[in-house]
Amino acid sequence: MNDYYPLDAFQSPRFGQPATFMRLPLERDAGKLDVALIGVPFDGGTTYRPGARFGPREIRNQSALIRPYNPVLKVDPFLIRRIANYGDIDINPLSLDDTYRRVQEAIATVVRNAAIPICVGGDQSISLPVMRALAAEHGPLALVHFDSHSDTWDVYWGMPHSHGTPFRRATEEGLLDTDKALQVGIRGQLYSEDDLAFARDHGFRIVAIEEIKAGGPDLLRREIDRISESPVYLSFDIDVLDPSIAPGTGTPQIGGLDSFEALQLLRVLRGLNIVGCDLVEVSPPYDSANVTSLVAANILHEILCVLPEEKKGRG
Ligand code: MN
Repeated sequence: MNDYYPLDAFQSPRFGQPATFMRLPLERDAGKLDVALIGVPFDGGTTYRPGARFGPREIRNQSALIRPYNPVLKVDPFLIRRIANYGDIDINPLSLDDTYRRVQEAIATVVRNAAIPICVGGDQSISLPVMRALAAEHGPLALVHFDSHSDTWDVYWGMPHSHGTPFRRATEEGLLDTDKALQVGIRGQLYSEDDLAFARDHGFRIVAIEEIKAGGPDLLRREIDRISESPVYLSFDIDVLDPSIAPGTGTPQIGGLDSFEALQLLRVLRGLNIVGCDLVEVSPPYDSANVTSLVAANILHEILCVLPEEKKGRG
């Protein structure tokens, strides 16, 4: 048995012990891990409803119910990889710039140790420093981004960094191979048609909600074909889901995916060279009966099940 395995629910009840991701042990040495589950409790990039800083803590709570084996993909991710709770990055709640420095540095350490960082936000602004650290190691990244918003706006209130701008900044900084950037589930009102022009002009493939609802996993399978050789950044904004099942989020948009559709789409990503991920925008203060955090915890497990299976050496 792997040193890093969820606590046995028949020896230690699920509702007991300090909350951690999926009842995994805490391990702050990335060199010992294949995958690091990292909390990034920052919501200083939020433009509407705050509260995503409480996301990691509540997702840990709700993940206590996750059982290890995935019967659809026929995999127990904790048996084939060393996965642990890496704790939280100590962000600066009063400074976005300082937080970006801290997140980039922390993720760079994880990546240098050849572990895959799975960052649990926090709002979507944290994606930028994570992508900076990953691109420094892997070069320009392909992108699979589930969201109701493209997050390629330019500025808010004159500020370049917020949860609505990370993929525009990443493009400008050369962190993305934008011909291999895919945004899935995009919907909702815009300020104008021009809102998506930057993304489209730079080669992003925007798969609107109508298209993915109609085309399903087969459509996504075709779309990811051309990124199969690339290092991929996977970003999952919980607001890609319908607010009826994920109300606890910063900028809810109706008409979204249901949780079953989300699982089906994520399963298509198996086999991609995913080098880093985030799951963002869970805001527990706006949640009902913790359902958003529960969905998020399950999405996290599904992500763990589709990560590349190649392990680093264990010398
Ligand atoms: Mn987003």
